[in-house]
Amino acid sequence: MTPFSKLPTPCYVVDTGRLRQNLETIRKIQDRTDAKIILALKGFAMFSTFPIVSEYLCGTTASSVNEARLGREEFGGEVHAYAPAYNDLDIEELAPLVQHITFNSFSQFHRFQQRLLDLNPNVSVGLRINPEYSEVATPLYDPCRPCSRLGMTLAHFEGQDLEGVEGLHFHTMCEQNSDTLERVVEAVERQFGPFLDRMKWINFGGGHHITRSDYDVERLCRIIEAFSDRHAVQVYLEPGEAIALNAGYLVSSVLDVFENGMPLAILDASATAHMPDVLEMPYRPVIQGAGDPGSKPHTIRLGGMTCLAGDEIGDYAFDHPLKVGDRLVFEDMAHYTMVKNTTFNGVRLPSIATYDPETEKTEVVRQFGYEDYRDRLS
Ligand SMILES: *Cc1c(COP(=O)(O)O)cnc(C)c1O
Repeated sequence: MTPFSKLPTPCYVVDTGRLRQNLETIRKIQDRTDAKIILALKGFAMFSTFPIVSEYLCGTTASSVNEARLGREEFGGEVHAYAPAYNDLDIEELAPLVQHITFNSFSQFHRFQQRLLDLNPNVSVGLRINPEYSEVATPLYDPCRPCSRLGMTLAHFEGQDLEGVEGLHFHTMCEQNSDTLERVVEAVERQFGPFLDRMKWINFGGGHHITRSDYDVERLCRIIEAFSDRHAVQVYLEPGEAIALNAGYLVSSVLDVFENGMPLAILDASATAHMPDVLEMPYRPVIQGAGDPGSKPHTIRLGGMTCLAGDEIGDYAFDHPLKVGDRLVFEDMAHYTMVKNTTFNGVRLPSIATYDPETEKTEVVRQFGYEDYRDRLS
């Protein structure tokens, strides 16, 4: 009997104790440095947990009007926004919702600056910079890839009037440690240092794997403190993944088992629909009680219930053969899952639940049905 054995499946379960542990780490950084740390909703937007998260963080950052509105209505505090491009309607809708807007280009800045300030004179405007330095090995996740569309390089600053720009924003990391940040900050200062004197804030973006066990928090604090000594600007960090890292699960049930060259099991959770990063990153999720192929007596290929041939999660070894009704618990499924899932094939979205380790109680906070599928179509 695990605490998850009564849940409907598939189901994302967020462990609020683990969430708090992550947030405690983040709080220490905020207490020690003057940095403000906000939640990137792109990575984790389970708003039923926002009463907890907002005890620790002062706001959210949004990549769209919808996220900004969620941040405003469900989280409170500061709302920041950045997107590679906005249209007129986005600006109309964002203006009353946000404290900061970061534009991706000088053309977007010039196009919208006046309109934005007419709508809300209190919005602080920033520009995303591309320091042309990153250590992200996967091109899909490298904002400094050649000919990147994300942010302005130093060359773009040539001859530009920075009147009205109050902040600079960079985001060049993905699941990285603070030694990488140190080198990114060096590149930023080397190139954009002269502009920092006239800014009010700088945003160090996301991709800081702060809550991973080997993350060097001490070094992060030193980097921020030293930066703040050199420049009189407010430092922001906007991690997504780090907030919910290792704080949740996807619980699924085995629907069928048979053989075709090897043992196969079909689950009620899908890689493509419910944990798309398994195929997109790609990566191999950890399953409780299972190991690498061959490490236990029964190696079984696990797949989802969609028609996509490649909807496979991988080969996993178990102590016993799987049977219909068995439950599998996928680890680290809180971030970049609920926010990315789809109803491809019309499959049902996983329910969303919380688990409180103190009371050992689970609570299903949301279940999805036909309407959720229908309402995104017409
Ligand atoms: C994705 C993103 C984040 C959050 O990144 P994590 O890897 O989840 O920490 C923050 N800022 C920007 C601009 C992003 O694109």
